[in-house]
Amino acid sequence: MNENLSDYKGVLVFAEQRNGHIESVTYELLNKGRELADKRKTFVMAAILGNDLKDSAKNLIIRGADKVITADSEKLKDFIDTTYANVLSDLILKYKPEIVLAGSTNLGRSLLPRVAAKLKTGLTADCTELDIDPADGKLLQTRPAAGGSIMATIVTPNSRPQMSTVRHKVFKETTADESRKGEIEIFEVKESHIDVRTRYLGFKKDETQTVNLSDADVIVSGGRGLKQADNFKLVQSLADALNGAVGASRPVIDDGWMPFSHQVGQTGKTVSPKIYVALGISGAIQHIAGMKSSDVIVAVNRDENAPIFQIADYGIVGDLFEVVPLLLEKLKEIDK
Ligand SMILES: Cc1cc2nc3c(=O)[nH]c(=O)nc-3n(C[C@H](O)[C@H](O)[C@H](O)COP(=O)(O)OP(=O)(O)OC[C@H]3O[C@@H](n4cnc5c(N)ncnc54)[C@H](O)[C@@H]3O)c2cc1C
Repeated sequence: MNENLSDYKGVLVFAEQRNGHIESVTYELLNKGRELADKRKTFVMAAILGNDLKDSAKNLIIRGADKVITADSEKLKDFIDTTYANVLSDLILKYKPEIVLAGSTNLGRSLLPRVAAKLKTGLTADCTELDIDPADGKLLQTRPAAGGSIMATIVTPNSRPQMSTVRHKVFKETTADESRKGEIEIFEVKESHIDVRTRYLGFKKDETQTVNLSDADVIVSGGRGLKQADNFKLVQSLADALNGAVGASRPVIDDGWMPFSHQVGQTGKTVSPKIYVALGISGAIQHIAGMKSSDVIVAVNRDENAPIFQIADYGIVGDLFEVVPLLLEKLKEIDK
């Protein structure tokens, strides 16, 4: 599909939905997509696949899409990766966007590699930053590489579209603007798109997910500085007092003090709460990769040279076993 690169125009966001509910990563991508489109002096499209999508399409315009392309069919009600890949790749061939963005979610990770392979173009998975090269207008796709020790910036020089999946919570969501106007176009779903060999049997929730860190406004995380599993009670108490969720650094998970669903960082969750409190966490690059876009970062560490203080908005140098009880007392006083 790589005849003439200049035939490809616009940024296309794959709008992920489940049971008609649009996943918030879509709004984050619409926000970043707009920034990239402005730099390329082009427009933002959203593609949504599913069934009964009228309201969803309007919602995508309100959230920043100039044009929404809907593939609406009873056959697309449930996600089947091969069928979705057939539809999405044909849709891309028709609309020829120069950039395609999708969430680095379970669905995005399953779908986008299939689409990229069908289109014979590149895909950079799990990006944490996207930009436009001012010199030649190419998409700069940045992601951690070599075990997180370097950030690699990848370009797709010879084929289109340039495709990336992006982690949830790396970018801020667009806000809703009811006055926005845009076009809605219907993409025809054909019998040949449907993979008859695969049937959707049902959806089984992952029961090991004990916490939804990605949507928490406040997260209190503990690290190796807690010394032992039992001391995590202190992290839980502060999280409860702040109506927040409990996070953790990787050694805490590796040592079995907390389940994996609490891990923040490169190999755990990417979070962006209003307040992130790091207790006894040194601030390794792999941890910071997962929480640096938090609005306010508070760190408690007894080592004044701990790297976490370089990104903290409020840093308390001290023993967490003394500092946290004092914070809890203060919060109780405020509550009275
Ligand atoms: C490929 C790869 C992927 C990784 N992915 C992740 C990831 O997703 N998430 C992640 O977190 N890490 C990840 N890591 C591990 C990462 O490199 C660090 O080892 C880890 O983040 C360190 O955790 P920590 O800060 O809890 O422990 P440490 O680095 O040991 O820091 C403990 C801190 O506690 C402080 N402290 C000790 N006692 C007290 C006290 N009483 N009061 C106050 N402060 C105290 C110390 O001063 C120290 O700064 C990854 C590593 C690799 C190689």
